[in-house]
Amino acid sequence: MRLVDTHCHLNDRQAFPDPAPAVDEALAAGVVRLVVVGVDTDSSRYAVELAERFEEVYAVVGWHPTSTATFSPAELPALREMLAHPKVVALGEIGLDYHWDYATPEQQAVALRAQLDLAAELEEPVVFHCREAYPDLLDVLEREPGPRRLFHCFAGDATDASRAVALGAWFGVDGPVTYRKADALREVLAGLPRDRVVVETDAPWMAPHPFRGKPNRPAWVTYVNEGLASVWGVTPEVCAGLTTAAAQAFFGPLGLSD
Ligand SMILES: [Zn+2]
Repeated sequence: MRLVDTHCHLNDRQAFPDPAPAVDEALAAGVVRLVVVGVDTDSSRYAVELAERFEEVYAVVGWHPTSTATFSPAELPALREMLAHPKVVALGEIGLDYHWDYATPEQQAVALRAQLDLAAELEEPVVFHCREAYPDLLDVLEREPGPRRLFHCFAGDATDASRAVALGAWFGVDGPVTYRKADALREVLAGLPRDRVVVETDAPWMAPHPFRGKPNRPAWVTYVNEGLASVWGVTPEVCAGLTTAAAQAFFGPLGLSD
């Protein structure tokens, strides 16, 4: 079985003072690639450093919506430079988050616009973070043709999902697929196109059952894969094949041979 953790924050220095043990543990569990995602310029630079240090690590660079109170267009040249790196595979995580108020909706919208324009110019795929803001984000994306788009940790309802499917988007599935009370989410995931769904941990956040509440780690994407497999009524092996192929369709081959 070959899994890709398509979204983790090994660049969170507090949670992973030394990322090497987490990478080793993931490899031992069958997680062959880890995509480390930035939330601002510093964490993006560190994600790129980790991609240079570990063969199995790839990076995504960008400004998370809750970081955007300090975003300015002066950050764009740094992102542009990082996006030229061969192991940087997408721009992200960018988007809208109306749950937290670290940045106003206006500040978030400015950073989103600037980064969407950069992605369009460079034809980079985009990883979105969206919380309690799907209608507004989808309104923006439906107005423009875009590069490949992935909704990380998808938590929208059936209407949001069908709008995102119509955009040709990919969907990230995380620990919540394993939570006892997540039937509504599982119902949405059951209906998604199976070539468009990837698995991720969002480590150190979103630990799956039975580790809910603990700091999450990339090795535990195996539990996410098992949860999704049972939603789809397939074996974990089949689910791993589908989600790894979907990750490669979105990010590119990630250095994996067939
Ligand atoms: Zn994240």
